[in-house]
Amino acid sequence: MRKASAHLVEVGSEPLDGPARNSVGGRPYLDEGQSWPECFCGERLVLFFQLDLPTDVETFGGDHLLVFHCRAHNDATYAEEADDRLIPRYWDAPQPPYPRPFWRVLLQRHATLPAAETEPSLYALPLTLRPFTDTPDAEGIGAQTFKLGGTPSWAQYPEHYRCACGADMVYLCQVPENMGFAARPRRPEQPYSGGTGTYELFLGNEVYLLACPARCDPAAVWPLTQS
Ligand SMILES: [Zn+2]
Ligand SMILES: [Zn+2]
Repeated sequence: MRKASAHLVEVGSEPLDGPARNSVGGRPYLDEGQSWPECFCGERLVLFFQLDLPTDVETFGGDHLLVFHCRAHNDATYAEEADDRLIPRYWDAPQPPYPRPFWRVLLQRHATLPAAETEPSLYALPLTLRPFTDTPDAEGIGAQTFKLGGTPSWAQYPEHYRCACGADMVYLCQVPENMGFAARPRRPEQPYSGGTGTYELFLGNEVYLLACPARCDPAAVWPLTQS
């Protein structure tokens, strides 16, 4: 297996008082013309986190990663394939029983300015990246932590996908099982979340972000979930 550079992603405890490019919540850095994504239900998606990908991350170094997910809709993901590929425009495709995905993961390349508004649902907290060596165990399982690169800590078994454009998707980032993101007071509860006052991604499943190395679309990232 290719030895990729790995970074631990650490969540700070002191709320941010201004925009930051590496954050939980906060003000999203989006390309010009890219609006804050919405769910099919009409709610603006919650910005869970965003990160500048370090230049030593293969293929995607220098890109800005943003992970949005609906507050009201919370589920695992289901990958629909045809001809051994994810279906065309899978990032907008129906996600039964939902008419469209309830999330949006974006890779932005020219995100120079923060949005005018701050994510209202989550505390804005700084994220720090720290290089680490992710040595897989005998079963080929990497560290079960919030990280960029390294080797996934597959909760079930390794899964691989090919993008609709034909490129083999590349594992980029992992969010560990049951990771809670601290919600601000008086925000609506998230259904089926792990506890009051926190939101989770994809029902608290472990999430592996698989990105299209051909960058056929800014949203060509598949959040693979396992538990
Ligand atoms: Zn929704
Ligand atoms: Zn693609």
